[in-house]
Amino acid sequence: MSAILVPSLYVMSGICAFAALHHGLAVMQRRVSQTHLLFAALCGVVMAYILVRAGAYQAQTVEALVALRRWEVVGVCLIFAIFAWFIAGFTGVRPRRFLIALTVFWGLILAANLLLPYGAQFADLPTLTYFDLPWGERVVDLRVFHPSPAHKIALVGVLALIAFGVHASIDLYRRGLKRRARSLAWALGIFFSFVLFNWAANWGLIDFVHLSEFGFLAMLVMMDLEMTLESRNDKRRMRDVLDHLPVAICLKDLRGRFQLINRGFETLFRVDHDGLLGKTAFDTLPEVHARRFRIDEKQALETGKDVEREHVLESNGAPRIYETHQFPLLRPDGTPYAVCGVYVDITEARQKDEALHKFRRQIWHTDRVASTGAISASLAHEICQPLAAILNNAQAGLRFLDRERVDLEEIRDILQDIVRDDKRAGTIINGLRAMLQQQETPYADVDLAQCIDEVLELLHSEVIRHGVDVERSLETQLTVRANKTQIQQVILNLVINALEAMAEQPAGERILRITATRADGKAQVSIRDTGVGIAEDMLDRIFEGFYTTKPQGLGVGLEVCRSIMESHHGSIWAEANPDRGATFHFTLPLVRGDAAQEATPSA
Ligand code: ADP
Repeated sequence: MSAILVPSLYVMSGICAFAALHHGLAVMQRRVSQTHLLFAALCGVVMAYILVRAGAYQAQTVEALVALRRWEVVGVCLIFAIFAWFIAGFTGVRPRRFLIALTVFWGLILAANLLLPYGAQFADLPTLTYFDLPWGERVVDLRVFHPSPAHKIALVGVLALIAFGVHASIDLYRRGLKRRARSLAWALGIFFSFVLFNWAANWGLIDFVHLSEFGFLAMLVMMDLEMTLESRNDKRRMRDVLDHLPVAICLKDLRGRFQLINRGFETLFRVDHDGLLGKTAFDTLPEVHARRFRIDEKQALETGKDVEREHVLESNGAPRIYETHQFPLLRPDGTPYAVCGVYVDITEARQKDEALHKFRRQIWHTDRVASTGAISASLAHEICQPLAAILNNAQAGLRFLDRERVDLEEIRDILQDIVRDDKRAGTIINGLRAMLQQQETPYADVDLAQCIDEVLELLHSEVIRHGVDVERSLETQLTVRANKTQIQQVILNLVINALEAMAEQPAGERILRITATRADGKAQVSIRDTGVGIAEDMLDRIFEGFYTTKPQGLGVGLEVCRSIMESHHGSIWAEANPDRGATFHFTLPLVRGDAAQEATPSA
């Protein structure tokens, strides 16, 4: 007597165990979606079901047969319930109420199976009858000729499940996922055919044993193939996406050995994928880059955060600016298993930024030239005053020299007056240059108090015309390394804005207070007015380009001020005063002794 059916059932249960393990592990490693978990559960239950069937085919007593077949029904109920949820996950068609109802239905059948005296299969105590298979194997006959009511009711659940599967496949097909829809339809078709076969065998239409185990296995194999193929396709698609991204990407293990690189990386560093795998950057890239990248990687691994930097790398013989990101990839328990590097070429973006920045500065410059025109009367007065004083003093000096006894003390006084007036004229002209000059001046040590004085000197008549009282409290020796013209442009903009903001205030209540102090190792300049003030929600908006509330305004002044401050590693912000008006603050790093050289901001 050659045994084929029972041994093949054990082989089949082994295949199911393998599939359950394969998908279960994939879910645990978070490589695949949760649908694989349902599939793993389905495989596990089918494995148990097949083992129970194998046992039942070899049952020695009626009691053993009833007990085993009770377990078989438990398996079937679980298979049908899980299968419905799997279809929902696989197709994305999730009629929650239907799924819950179906699960409850199978739960009730399961309960009936446990409560009925002979389980859900049998209405009465069965007898042990045998079936002789064509190849000579004798097994217990598991066909159910007198089913229990629960067995008949279960039919409704099976039909509902198949109807749901068909509906979900059609939906998938309509959404364009034709391959997925086809494999599910095939799996359902196979499953349904074997169910029909079982019924036909029960009704005596076919004289053969049940073949549902084969049906379940065929269905699982089909779905497994489809899901494995899909993951492989996903990987391929992911690779294609990585290769087409306009960035260089690499993945390294914790010891810095390359695990994966995309085409962008190959082009940037002139390396090839296969030659690089398993090697470190020190083996393949210029040492200077390898060392810098490794420092960033280590920091990313230690902190668990994205480390962002800018590096100048050579690409096709030309230096280009790259923004690099290094971030760790983490296991579910939070420990890193790899580090990913992304290199984005920002050269063009940077050039565009600079061009835009330049354009804004040009607009601002045009605006300033226009405002110089508006205050030209005040400026002429400011410059003419010291010049006239110099002329008067020089003429007086000449007259003194014509006398017989020249009073040297008086001549000294006159010359000192000339020097003072000359300096004043020089200061005004310097301030004017700040207002009009467009080209960048080199970075130098700049005395902030002097810088502010020069601007206020320039605006002296303007301040008087606006009827504004100026209070200044300027600490000395606040030296910053800066582009003096730009800093004066910032002060000028803030002071003019303050004067304009106070234009509508009653006379005697227009007070401009300028302070320059040392705070947290930085120089802080504050310009406080008693003008119209700024609403809290506008404090940030005003620094955005082209925001203005003035009929003639351009709204670029504060934006340029902010960009000047940023390029000096400083900051600028506005505050609404508790009583009236607004205060603008800016800070700049101070130059300290021999640290001055290091504090040089990059232009
Ligand atoms: P513009 O002076 O051309 O309008 P700015 O960028 O210098 O451009 O200023 C933007 C806006 O910020 C101004 O239109 C004004 O509404 C507001 N603002 C700036 N300074 C002050 C201030 N001291 N008091 C009140 N509002 C101010």
